[in-house]
Amino acid sequence: MIYRRLGRTERQVSLLGVGGGYVMLQEMAAGTAVYQRAYELGINYFDGRYGYSTFMQRPVIKQNREFFIVGSKTASPTRDAAMARIDEDLRELDTPYLDIYYLRAYNHDMIDAYFAPGGAIEALLEARRQGKIRYLGLAGHSDLTALARGVETGLIDVVQFPLNIARREALDNLMPTLLKHDTGMVIMKPLNAGLAPAELALPWLANQPIHVINAGLANMDHLELDAAILDRDPMALSPEEEAAVEQMRQQTTTITCRICIKQCQVVCEPGIVIDWHLYHNIYQNELRRLGTEGFINYSFADWFKRDAEKSFSSSLASLNTCTQCRKCEEVCPYHLPILDMFAQMKGQQADLIEAIKEAGWTEKFKDAQSPLPANYLPTQRSRIP
Ligand code: SF4
Ligand code: SF4
Repeated sequence: MIYRRLGRTERQVSLLGVGGGYVMLQEMAAGTAVYQRAYELGINYFDGRYGYSTFMQRPVIKQNREFFIVGSKTASPTRDAAMARIDEDLRELDTPYLDIYYLRAYNHDMIDAYFAPGGAIEALLEARRQGKIRYLGLAGHSDLTALARGVETGLIDVVQFPLNIARREALDNLMPTLLKHDTGMVIMKPLNAGLAPAELALPWLANQPIHVINAGLANMDHLELDAAILDRDPMALSPEEEAAVEQMRQQTTTITCRICIKQCQVVCEPGIVIDWHLYHNIYQNELRRLGTEGFINYSFADWFKRDAEKSFSSSLASLNTCTQCRKCEEVCPYHLPILDMFAQMKGQQADLIEAIKEAGWTEKFKDAQSPLPANYLPTQRSRIP
């Protein structure tokens, strides 16, 4: 495993990290096995706060707590609420401290709230004084200039942000600030929600001045594959790979949502949360990756199977409220063919709902216990602002 210096934290961190967003769709034992194997491979960066991924990580980090760099996140805007979340994370992970605590920041309003008197940054500073956390972080995937502004306070040690072959705005509007402040860089969305193959996307990222690639891996096969891809020498891309990267960039740049929420959202009269459908819906992202048959045969946890029909029906109903006015396409700065993308998703989701009914998942798994809060089931109204 390759290790890099995580900016001013001075910690040595593995180039490959493991998050929790997709691993948590597996049963507990299978998820824990993924984190355990990651440890065996030398991976020391975990983060999460997604469902029960913390419980999957807990027995693994206990084995060698000082080896790991563990992160968690909150969008709680106030000091008291953020401190409560930190304490909750410590209890869930059964650890005396977290390494990095990120505030999720998607826009300048959130930055203003965090850094105002009584804001969440006070909780992070106090938690660091008390030894509950070691480093202060920001994480966000929408307006990256908001992250840069937060870093300019001089208080932030690590930032987690999206960077991939198609989505490169961080190179210009965030990374110069991070380099200036010697801030640790953790990359999310490295595979662009499944649009870029790991074989190309991971080496391209490894050649950027970043520290951790937080791969959205979902299972053991992904972990082994990602680790093998990054085990290469030289890391520099060959001319053939450079050409393939450029081709991939051209193919995917106009179907990559940048989550610039306020652009399309404000003109959509039915109130469809467009970026959620295009980017955040992990159920849809898994369907895109696996296809209908692959989805039905995949090793999802029983509670996930129990909820799948309801979730996809809710998503499809939302997509069907589209009046096809095309106002969103007119304002999208990246000229995304939103209606074509919706049409493709609607077809995929309708096919899958039929397949789920045929497989009888809802009835078969009706007694499965969900580890998630009752309001977790992703619908267009449950997204974080
Ligand atoms: S085309 Fe559909 S998604 Fe776009 S603004 Fe109109 S109703 Fe909303
Ligand atoms: S305007 Fe375009 S890029 Fe921005 S959130 Fe909407 S669809 Fe995505």
